[in-house]
Amino acid sequence: MQEKMMGFKCRRCGKVMYPPHERCLSCRNTEFDEISLGDECNLITYTKLYALPRGIEMSPLTLGIVEFRNKVRAMGQIMADDPKPGMSLHPVWGKLRTIDEKEVFGFKFEPIL
Ligand SMILES: [Zn+2]
Repeated sequence: MQEKMMGFKCRRCGKVMYPPHERCLSCRNTEFDEISLGDECNLITYTKLYALPRGIEMSPLTLGIVEFRNKVRAMGQIMADDPKPGMSLHPVWGKLRTIDEKEVFGFKFEPIL
């Protein structure tokens, strides 16, 4: 079970990417080291979606962009009733949706209390 969100740090220029790309977005290098993105991030912006694909139990779905301490940004479900830009969140591994009776897991973001 995957519990830490991992980023990919370019061995040449040090840029950290998430999700991984085949080539570094800055210098086109193809070698990376896997690093932890950390346990804490801040909400940058979010949107609430009311028209959802099948298999998503959260309605409305709050989809947000978060930024980690190392400036890496990621997108995912925000598990807050009243999300506010700037709030502190941490990634948790859990079920995102069910597609044809198969459960899809990924990271969601919960408020740090
Ligand atoms: Zn690079």
